[in-house]
Amino acid sequence: MGSMEARCAISFVRFRCGRSSRIAAGVINPVTGKNFEPSWRIADFLPEALEFYAAVEKELGQKIWHPLPILRLAGSEKEWSKIISKLNLPDVIPWHLGEVAPPAGWIGAVKVKGGGWLNTRMFLERSRNFFEHQGSFALGEIPPNENDRNTIFCEGASGLMTGKYGPHRCAKGEILTIHANDWDETYIRIGAGGWLVPQGEGVFRVGSTYEWNELDDKPTEKGRFKVEEIASRLGGSTFEVISHEVGIRPILRRSQPMIGPLMNGGWVFNALGSKGSLYAPGMANRLANWLLDGVEPEAEVDFREFLKSANAR
Ligand SMILES: Cc1cc2nc3c(=O)[nH]c(=O)nc-3n(C[C@H](O)[C@H](O)[C@H](O)COP(=O)(O)OP(=O)(O)OC[C@H]3O[C@@H](n4cnc5c(N)ncnc54)[C@H](O)[C@@H]3O)c2cc1C
Repeated sequence: MGSMEARCAISFVRFRCGRSSRIAAGVINPVTGKNFEPSWRIADFLPEALEFYAAVEKELGQKIWHPLPILRLAGSEKEWSKIISKLNLPDVIPWHLGEVAPPAGWIGAVKVKGGGWLNTRMFLERSRNFFEHQGSFALGEIPPNENDRNTIFCEGASGLMTGKYGPHRCAKGEILTIHANDWDETYIRIGAGGWLVPQGEGVFRVGSTYEWNELDDKPTEKGRFKVEEIASRLGGSTFEVISHEVGIRPILRRSQPMIGPLMNGGWVFNALGSKGSLYAPGMANRLANWLLDGVEPEAEVDFREFLKSANAR
């Protein structure tokens, strides 16, 4: 096994323990946030992601991507006005199927297409088995002072939080897995500052919180209460909590990922933010093209450009 492969394998093992990808709901939502805006470069990254997950499914013989329409719900007139004011914008039109009748207790609803959820845990576990069978698998940790030019540092939030990549905006998030009888499983519901993702057979993931100051891995009562409120609003009042988990989103600049060479050697692949399922495959392609063929990516994902602008501030 070449040095590069060995390093990838080492990172991959540690990745198994990584909270963020293992606990993520894996949602890809083309039009997001309070402002109902298309995710950054969605039209480029979504096809790349879907193509990659389809190829992985074929290789692993396991379904990991679950396409599902999204029901974007508005709970106030203000929120609804904002949403409908965006429906005819050229970059929003391709992602929605128009207004639909809102469920009881909501002012308006829009059906969004192109989204779904990635079973991140299944993806990680099955991929690990796949590489184990290939023999390209090693257990270990990359020392923090590693400067091998073939090392790719894909350390997630734990890397960003050391400060070695400049100022970060990592955010802790709490998420619940719940069971509920007879809740609608035909949509991912988004509203009330959160989301509810049906997993089948009455199981749902619901989240989440954003905490920028206390970046630990401890579930809190406050976080659980907040997510339970989201569950009640989006699903209903009767449910059972199966698990309560915590992860830290690796954020440098919003959910804009970064790749690039490091001054002391090695490469960084990080800052997937709240949208790793959408951006990871496309960013991995860009990194591979850069490493293997010298093709540099767009300046906005080039870590050297991020450092320049961070240093200029
Ligand atoms: C509550 C919550 C909900 C989320 N929901 C979604 C969602 O619905 N959709 C979505 O797209 N994204 C979601 N995300 C974001 C998503 O989890 C991240 O974008 C993504 O998982 C980041 O992946 P990563 O590989 O960079 O980091 P991680 O998954 O954290 O992996 C980094 C790995 O590097 C390892 N590592 C660190 N240092 C070393 C070292 N020195 N040597 C070896 N290994 C090392 C770590 O142990 C870890 O395994 C959510 C995040 C949270 C917290």
